[in-house]
Amino acid sequence: MDEDYRSAVRFHGHECPGLAMGYRVARYVKDRYQRAEDEELVAVVENNSCSVDAVQDMLGCTFGKGNLIFLDRGKQVFTFYPRSGRADKALRIYFKDDLLRDMGDLRSRFFGKTLSEAEEKEFEALKSRIVRSILSAPEQDVLSVSEVEMPEPEKARIYPSLKCQQCGEAFMEARGRTACGKVVCMDCFEKLDA
Ligand SMILES: [Zn+2]
Ligand SMILES: [Zn+2]
Repeated sequence: MDEDYRSAVRFHGHECPGLAMGYRVARYVKDRYQRAEDEELVAVVENNSCSVDAVQDMLGCTFGKGNLIFLDRGKQVFTFYPRSGRADKALRIYFKDDLLRDMGDLRSRFFGKTLSEAEEKEFEALKSRIVRSILSAPEQDVLSVSEVEMPEPEKARIYPSLKCQQCGEAFMEARGRTACGKVVCMDCFEKLDA
């Protein structure tokens, strides 16, 4: 495999089917997307599983930079567009689940139980077989790519901060609550509210 794959495995901490899926998605984007310095790529990811780590490592889309947006849809769908908004379409990639049928079987057979040494070996072998088939499958067998309308522009990410009148810690104003006549952080709100 190429250096990008090895780097993504290092970043993620292990090789697994999920990371391999993310690699295929990120590879597709990295090979086709013309990325200018000032047109940083934004990724909207519809899951928070292993696959997203390949997107972060290979494409530089991260929470800290605000160009990784998580939509909790539980789908292996990834949408990419340049932050500048100069493009009029976004690229939507769905990772097809056909290859992952074996994985469902893998899960039900091995998850949530203590494995014997033989089962452990079988589990690892099956997992790496799935990883290999994900990595070697023809593109059209694993990726469904379409152009979609650009998502809404991002809202400002910097908000003023306030000091919580209960615990004294600073928090983002937009996350403030009031309880017992005080302006408080969400943690304190939950405690005072209980
Ligand atoms: Zn993983
Ligand atoms: Zn507080």
